[in-house]
Amino acid sequence: MSTDSAMWLIDGHSDWLLDVSDTKRSFFEESSIGHVDLPRLRKGQISAMMCAVFIRNDDLPHHALIQTLRTVDRLRTIVEKSDGSVRLVEEYDDLERCREEGSFGAILHYEGAEAIDPEFAVLRLSHALGLRSLGLVWSRSNIFAEGVGENDRGRGLTYLGKELVRRCNQLGILVDVSHLNVAGFWDVIETSNAPIVASHSNARAVCNHERNLHDDQIKALAERGGLMGINFARQFLVEGAATGEDVSLDAMIDHVDHIVNLVGIDHVALGSDYDGARMPADLYDAAQTPKLIQALRDRGYDDDAIQKFGRDNWLRVLKNVWT
Ligand SMILES: [Zn+2]
Repeated sequence: MSTDSAMWLIDGHSDWLLDVSDTKRSFFEESSIGHVDLPRLRKGQISAMMCAVFIRNDDLPHHALIQTLRTVDRLRTIVEKSDGSVRLVEEYDDLERCREEGSFGAILHYEGAEAIDPEFAVLRLSHALGLRSLGLVWSRSNIFAEGVGENDRGRGLTYLGKELVRRCNQLGILVDVSHLNVAGFWDVIETSNAPIVASHSNARAVCNHERNLHDDQIKALAERGGLMGINFARQFLVEGAATGEDVSLDAMIDHVDHIVNLVGIDHVALGSDYDGARMPADLYDAAQTPKLIQALRDRGYDDDAIQKFGRDNWLRVLKNVWT
């Protein structure tokens, strides 16, 4: 990569599938509502993104499966109606095709495994429908694991949770530990034979929030070839920022610097949380993403480092897990 115009980015987490539906906007038309639609992804040079399926508390437990299928259907319908401008990413080479075609690659992700049954039939069928990335939990508990926050009783993965990790390994589904509690994290590290990611979590040493990772967790992710995606949510960047205080791009890069000093540039990437969190004013929607890339450049990161952060680290992990 020699110029910004040649940059294409991979973003490890967004909740736009839910928000676009909730706000009744079209994914294909530029809006000032929310953070993500196809025109704003193009302006933001985002070529591929993890698109999360999230189940609301109100829909648990009985409507988890139907809400999951409705959301998957929504994404697949968008792909069908897109005239080739949106591609469901099912294999590694699809990412390269997106770059060549200028299409947007949607990577199907479940943010929490509530829809998955103990016999893993739904996992196998979900894989056939395009599932390529799975977070065992959101910030709550289920039959597989415990999330961070008030439901965290300090327990690790259940027997079924460990089996879920093994099944994901076999199917080539990426395992995501964002929202997982610390005990569960270490069980995933012990159980998984593939690299794992924290798709949208920051460094706890910089911002002491339960959703962020301790240094020993970051080292363990890196040792196994994984990565963490920098989350743009204000409260995960600066302590107490959720209450309204803005957060600067510099504060975001403090997290990148910390992770790079700890484990090098190969294990940090993008994980915006667009349409799922309150963004810094500078990054008010997906079209603004190149501002973060420029801010990294201004702080001394060279082309090689920026390319790794912007896409190559994600490409490396996805290639490893999917093939
Ligand atoms: Zn999340």
